[in-house]
Amino acid sequence: MSQHHDDDARGRNPANRLGIDYRAVPPRVATGRIIDVHTHVHRSPSVACFFAAAAAYRIEHIVSMTPLDEVDALRAVYGERLEFIAIPRWRSMAKTDEFRRQWIADLAVFRSKGARRMKFWMAPPMRGDHGLTLRDPFFGPVIGAALELGYEFMIHVGDPSVWFRPGGRYADAARYGTKHEQYDQLEYLLETVAPRSVIAAHLGGNIEEPDFLQALLDRHPHLYLDSSATKWVVREIAWQPERVRAFMIRNADRILFGSDLVVDPKFDFTHYASRYWVHQQLWETDYRGESPIEDPDAPQPPPLVGLALPPDVLHKLYHENAERLGHG
Ligand SMILES: [Zn+2]
Repeated sequence: MSQHHDDDARGRNPANRLGIDYRAVPPRVATGRIIDVHTHVHRSPSVACFFAAAAAYRIEHIVSMTPLDEVDALRAVYGERLEFIAIPRWRSMAKTDEFRRQWIADLAVFRSKGARRMKFWMAPPMRGDHGLTLRDPFFGPVIGAALELGYEFMIHVGDPSVWFRPGGRYADAARYGTKHEQYDQLEYLLETVAPRSVIAAHLGGNIEEPDFLQALLDRHPHLYLDSSATKWVVREIAWQPERVRAFMIRNADRILFGSDLVVDPKFDFTHYASRYWVHQQLWETDYRGESPIEDPDAPQPPPLVGLALPPDVLHKLYHENAERLGHG
């Protein structure tokens, strides 16, 4: 792949504003395997670059939300390194019986291909554009079919708090709901599918408010979080590292490592490796400096503050929790 494929108009790579050699992987603090429970792997000219970056950073097992019609081809190449989370055909998303029938049919096929978990994407546009939250009766048959097929669950709820502020993309609360209003549907899912596990993606969508997440975790013992999203997590940890570090340690049994990397023709090795490099700094080191990844939502230059989590916490984050939930 071209090294400059991702460069912006000024010739800078937004995934490498510091000119780091991402192929020179820093020594890892945590021994043992690493499972990435949140990726979007697609058949793409750059999929080999993604797997090369994952291998360089010792990510041995990839859990992916891949469209059903790409699953067999990817499995043929990457075999047991790759595991799938069931998703619907988002490109044809509509509140119709036809979409829902196809979704339920796909759940059964995904299950036959080894998927153990299915995902609901319930970010604010689902309410703003489709008028739907998970409480809508539209989703009832989907949840029912997933339970019957033996699925566990993942959900994207919320989005960065900065996007809900005046001038942000979700400033219109009448359309998108407030940030906290996103969470009623998570509680509904937790109550409906208990005791099946539910992974709330992107640190539950609210690493801005660790106390809010703590209350959810305390109320629902089958709730887990994944650490995915890079810019968002980096940005929000940077201004309250001590609080987030205490939260990560206190909930060490409940948080799974994830990146949210999306395989796309426009990305190259540098992009994929940048996320794994930053997550390594974030969780394993006491790095204090600039983030190599451009982030328009962050103070400039974007800060990166490492949490230097203890080795036993890293092992839980990187593989033990995922393995306990049947992944990898
Ligand atoms: Zn994702």
